[in-house]
Amino acid sequence: MSSPWQPPRGLDAPHASTNRVITADRAFQATGPDVIVDPAVVITDGIIRWIGPRAELPAEYANLPIEDHPGATILPGLIETHAHLASYETAFPLTTPDPQLHARSLAAISSVTMARQLASIGVTTVQSLGSRYFADVALREAINSGVVAGPNIVAAGPQLTTSAGHSWTNGAEVDSIDDIRKQVREHHKAGVDVIKVMATGGFMSTNTSPWKPQFTEEELRALVVEATRLGKHTAAHAHSTEGIRRAVNAGISYIAHGSFIDDDGRTSFDPWLADRIAEAGVFVDVCSPPSWPPVPGETTAPRALELYKHGVQLVTGHDIGAVIPASAYHYGLQQLELAGIPRHEVLLSATARAAAAAGLAGVTGALLPEYRADLIIARGNPLEDLRALEDLEEVIINGATFARDAVHPYRPIDEADEDPQERASATFDLRARRYAVAQRRLNHPLPALTPVSSVQSGSPLPSDPEPPTSPTTDS
Ligand SMILES: [Zn+2]
Repeated sequence: MSSPWQPPRGLDAPHASTNRVITADRAFQATGPDVIVDPAVVITDGIIRWIGPRAELPAEYANLPIEDHPGATILPGLIETHAHLASYETAFPLTTPDPQLHARSLAAISSVTMARQLASIGVTTVQSLGSRYFADVALREAINSGVVAGPNIVAAGPQLTTSAGHSWTNGAEVDSIDDIRKQVREHHKAGVDVIKVMATGGFMSTNTSPWKPQFTEEELRALVVEATRLGKHTAAHAHSTEGIRRAVNAGISYIAHGSFIDDDGRTSFDPWLADRIAEAGVFVDVCSPPSWPPVPGETTAPRALELYKHGVQLVTGHDIGAVIPASAYHYGLQQLELAGIPRHEVLLSATARAAAAAGLAGVTGALLPEYRADLIIARGNPLEDLRALEDLEEVIINGATFARDAVHPYRPIDEADEDPQERASATFDLRARRYAVAQRRLNHPLPALTPVSSVQSGSPLPSDPEPPTSPTTDS
């Protein structure tokens, strides 16, 4: 006789949900700019059952325990729509003779670390837009079955790209429409939720051109048709204006970066194309913080405000994990506000719109009845200052309080670049640490041996035992 599998004692159990009523000073539902004053949110079995003014709490919930957060704001959990969870291991050099041997294991470990860091800063859903070895799918399964606690994962597996195209080392190279159909089906077999394609070259791969498309419109259309047939949405990495145009025409539902780089490699916003993106309802992440990648003389920071003015649905995808640490998420939101986007719009981009961009409209991203109980409780009021999101009292995922890890605060890249000395000697430089250990070993003063001449000759050694004396017996 077998019983349903339970996480072994001592492991995290994210499904262990607490039925309760949460109250605070205000709630941002992510249905518009408004807040509910003195709200109550009812959570049972990981689902929001009711939300409204505390004074109107239905009698049927009156017996549930109340968890009050005076002065605080309840918001939907934040969403990262563009993460690379398995790429973290490239941030440090391996010191083993055969680093490749550990690539898969490290991808898995990195994914757990990165996902937990995101959850720890209030990100309750992560759309992974590219992960080698399908580590994101495995992580999703591990989280869903309670082996490890983390955010909800929407997984893409490896990005589809051309042979030797952008991120080809992740392993899904396709060169024809037949290749594309086959690979989308293979991804489906591997269990992905979304199909990610590299529509243009990128900055992080050798000898690809971010200002050139990698696929024809027909090829992208074949990818969309096949993905849609299998019930998946699609996302395209696209820096070049022509690549964006082809992706939108092909019916891709999400554009990552949207940098508007022209054939000559320079950034130039195309208002006509922006209108097309808006009409087609395509979601766009502008991948702030915009200081990366650094292009001399100009920034590839896309035109966040222009896109917004043209009615494009911006969402908060930051390429986290590729080069940007998880802790940069809040900085990214602040950059959107600095660009001129209204604060409550930034919050909607990070919640309700981001959920739709990850294929989860109606499931999470808003505080509404029958939505997943993914929410955060900020100590202050993020509607007055986005920095309040950096000070959370609680992160709730699927109704359960997430035990947060400590996450180092983010330092913008240009700031870190100012002190190369500091970067070189940073504690994450394992190589430097290894040399330091070797040096310490060399310098370690061992106790000197006692010189032989000072040992008295003839003195009995303790290892020379006296012969045992036993009484002689006459026989
Ligand atoms: Zn990316």
